[in-house]
Amino acid sequence: MAKWSEIEKEQFSEVLVEWYEREKRELPWRENTEAYRVWVSEIMLQQTQVDTVIPYFERFMSLFPTMKDFAYAPEEQILKAWEGLGYYSRVRNLQTAIREVTEAYDGVVPQSKEAILSLKGVGPYTAGAILSIAYNQPEAAVDGNVYRVYSRLMRIDDDISKAKTRKVFEQAVNQTISQDKPGAFNQALMDLGATICTPKNPKCDMCPVQKYCRAYAENDIEKYPFKSKKLKTKQKYLVTAIIQSNDGRFLVQQRPSEGLLANLWMFPSIEEEKPVEDLVESYQAGVSMPLYLNNQSLGKVKHVFSHLKWDVEIITGVMDEADLIEGYRLVTLEEMKVLPFPVPYQKVWQLYLKTRSEL
Ligand code: SF4
Repeated sequence: MAKWSEIEKEQFSEVLVEWYEREKRELPWRENTEAYRVWVSEIMLQQTQVDTVIPYFERFMSLFPTMKDFAYAPEEQILKAWEGLGYYSRVRNLQTAIREVTEAYDGVVPQSKEAILSLKGVGPYTAGAILSIAYNQPEAAVDGNVYRVYSRLMRIDDDISKAKTRKVFEQAVNQTISQDKPGAFNQALMDLGATICTPKNPKCDMCPVQKYCRAYAENDIEKYPFKSKKLKTKQKYLVTAIIQSNDGRFLVQQRPSEGLLANLWMFPSIEEEKPVEDLVESYQAGVSMPLYLNNQSLGKVKHVFSHLKWDVEIITGVMDEADLIEGYRLVTLEEMKVLPFPVPYQKVWQLYLKTRSEL
């Protein structure tokens, strides 16, 4: 790691904050930096792009303007508000934590690092973001952006796939963070990482802190950040079916309460390790009630989770409502609209509607 002088650290921090105050992105959660709003935005922004988050954040705040409104909202409603954002455990944990704040902290997000870290779903990054942005405390908020920006700035070659490396970056940020404007400082790093010091083709010519950047000076930016481990992505093959009953309702099923996409809704599906050859036979074997299925595939949708890929083949069919068995539901279109469906099943539904309108 390159050494920075005390003067450099101070100047860097000033330059970065000045740049932020001049150029910051106008984002709805920056209009008012109340802890609840910062918290919700940071949880939404984990693994999700800013542009995607904006409408979700605005809708969420109009549905649940206060922590109390959110703390006791029914699960189906909070999942619906999160529908499409993915990683649904985030919103469940957020509700558990906000309920705790409502009950144990008199409805005020705690200002101590220890207390905030004890809340469900709040890790060091979220804690640092809330404490610095809402409470003006000089706490680092280290995420992938900070790994990238600081590894380049200071030529830090520690392996970012190792958990212990976080400490190295926390120290680096804590040594440079603005003492009087820590919230602006951390948000400046977020903006710098998102708009200038990007993973590919960083815009060094436009970078406000280029003068301090050791990787730029050494012309070896592409070496940073250093990451050794590559996680393998698993591939799964699914067959799902849009099945209508005689009275025009659709067959749906709630996913198990644990695991991937827990408690969300889907069209009944089967999942295999290899591509499925006989769609109808395999599907019928997995969904054990009498169905009348079309052998012809309607098409495929693909979906990529963080370490898992789904290839979903879609078929259609009809059934007699008298044959419905426990664990499944027949719903009208109106009823379907209020159930939370994860993105892959929304894609399935869109493809179904498209092919139907083309008939
Ligand atoms: S000079 Fe380039 S590599 Fe260095 S911090 Fe700026 S954008 Fe990133």
